[in-house]
Amino acid sequence: MTDTTQNTRILLASRPHGEPTSDNFRIETAPMPQPADGEVLLRTVYMSLDPYMRGRMNDAKSYAAPVELGSVMEGGTVAEVVESRDPSLQAGDIVLSHLGWQSHGVQQAKHVRKLDADRAPISTAVGVLGMPGFTAYAGLLEIGKPQPGETVVVAAAAGPVGSAVGQIARIKGARAVGIAGGPEKVAWLKELGFDVALDHRSPTFKEDLKAAVPDGIDVYFENVGGHVWDAVLPLLNTYARVPVCGLVAHYNETALPDGPDRSARLMSSILTKSITVRGFIQTEFVKSHYKQFQADAAEWIADGSLRYREDIVEGLENAPDAFFGMLTGKNFGKLLVQVGADPTR
Ligand code: NDP
Repeated sequence: MTDTTQNTRILLASRPHGEPTSDNFRIETAPMPQPADGEVLLRTVYMSLDPYMRGRMNDAKSYAAPVELGSVMEGGTVAEVVESRDPSLQAGDIVLSHLGWQSHGVQQAKHVRKLDADRAPISTAVGVLGMPGFTAYAGLLEIGKPQPGETVVVAAAAGPVGSAVGQIARIKGARAVGIAGGPEKVAWLKELGFDVALDHRSPTFKEDLKAAVPDGIDVYFENVGGHVWDAVLPLLNTYARVPVCGLVAHYNETALPDGPDRSARLMSSILTKSITVRGFIQTEFVKSHYKQFQADAAEWIADGSLRYREDIVEGLENAPDAFFGMLTGKNFGKLLVQVGADPTR
């Protein structure tokens, strides 16, 4: 039974050097927080685990502030209202919130969004209908701008961002080439309708990719970097677009890799092929595109052209291990931690 007097939470105990380990986290219980006027007390149902959290563990300047040592790890959550001190919400409502890695928390009612469980499973609010789905939508359509008949390549293609990128590319009439780790993920991409699915762990990956894009690559949606990017770069077409969304292959690096500096070759390719390389953080598109995304994604899910997969791990205490696994591809689909009972299932 859930303890209604204690809040269980996972704090950042130390900063990792390279790969994070369980020593970097501390689990503890604390007294249940109390909501003030305008606030709600929430019980976490699902907690989202996302690659960006690795960056928040570093004490480095970035687009968002790091998690302070001794603070709760941050993250998106789907939660049930336990007690409301705001007229807009009542006990039992399900909301999209940002409680982080804890069983309960207090938030201002105006900072959470009420979810309709009849419209979509509530877990999708942090997945295909939430931040990762939106990242794919905005990055692909605003920066990648795929045209009918063009070739779009995406890696981490079995994850929530990549799987949406490939399917939206197909919806827009482009050819989708998905890259993922291992035969199971590759098989799933084929099921989703990707024109070609490749295993980046295969010893023939570089040749496989070349064979998969006989007309070159028009859009490369960059999620990983590393050896996938090395294989993609020579295959980019003139006027190719590269939305740089994530570089998960590098998140645990502590220094630049050994070897010659290849940035001159990269810049030369960008110049001679008139390639657009544009980084983005999804938040920049929220104001302009979120509403349309919600409408489009709901329609595509309903007509079966946008499918998704969830990887749900039970129990808050298992969050660190699940998180480590995601950074090396052990997750298969949108990674969630089920922290408490889902009253809608
Ligand atoms: P995923 O669930 O896809 O998890 C990350 C995946 O990356 C792993 O499952 C693994 O899949 C793959 N991977 C890890 N290491 C490597 C490697 N060395 N080479 C190739 N693939 C690797 O994550 P998301 O869909 O949530 O996120 C995808 C990317 O999008 C991340 O880089 C993330 O940081 C970024 N992102 C950026 C946002 C923005 O606003 N810019 C917002 C949200 C996400 P596999 O087994 O297939 O190798």
